[in-house]
Amino acid sequence: MRPKPGPAAEKPRLSQAGNPYPPGLEPVVIDYRRSTGIAPGPDGPPAVKPWPADRSFMVSFDTYLYEADPDVPHLTLWLERQRPDESDERYAHYRADIEHHFHVHAVMLMIIQRLATVCGLAATCREHVCRRQGSCVGVRDTGRFGHAIAMYPPCMPLDLEIMETFRQAVRQLLDEWEREEAKRPAQPPPAGVKEATSEWRSPG
Ligand SMILES: [Zn+2]
Repeated sequence: MRPKPGPAAEKPRLSQAGNPYPPGLEPVVIDYRRSTGIAPGPDGPPAVKPWPADRSFMVSFDTYLYEADPDVPHLTLWLERQRPDESDERYAHYRADIEHHFHVHAVMLMIIQRLATVCGLAATCREHVCRRQGSCVGVRDTGRFGHAIAMYPPCMPLDLEIMETFRQAVRQLLDEWEREEAKRPAQPPPAGVKEATSEWRSPG
């Protein structure tokens, strides 16, 4: 038998870390003890780690060869160096894969920035550039933050509940968009985009 629903719970306005939930989005409340094994202490929930911090063995690129999309925010690309025994073709596969991975996160960032703007966060944003432009436009430094974090603009606190609230709202939007797209006839890929193939390159 299903448990009887309790009285309609009031939606929380603040996360457990004390940050305001974005107005208009469904707040995600995390059971930290269950999901991380660490119960929130007097200082709030466990901190989010901005891994990976160590990019010292990698090279950064500002140019994308395989993902051409001027509409998404620019995330600096980080790649391992080409190994001496690695063919150019194999390295190209690797680069195409990583570029796609960064691109997907840049698309997420773009949607999260727009959602944050629609929620009215830009007006009170702690980043000057967001307040000046009236929209959330900041981009994190991918040399200091992994993709999983860089898809949230720097004006967003590293607060799992706030981040999840945005991520799930984006997920919902993308599901809706996919359903709409599925109804439309197939389109050819945009001109000028190279065919990116996927081949797993094991870490050296
Ligand atoms: Zn902002």
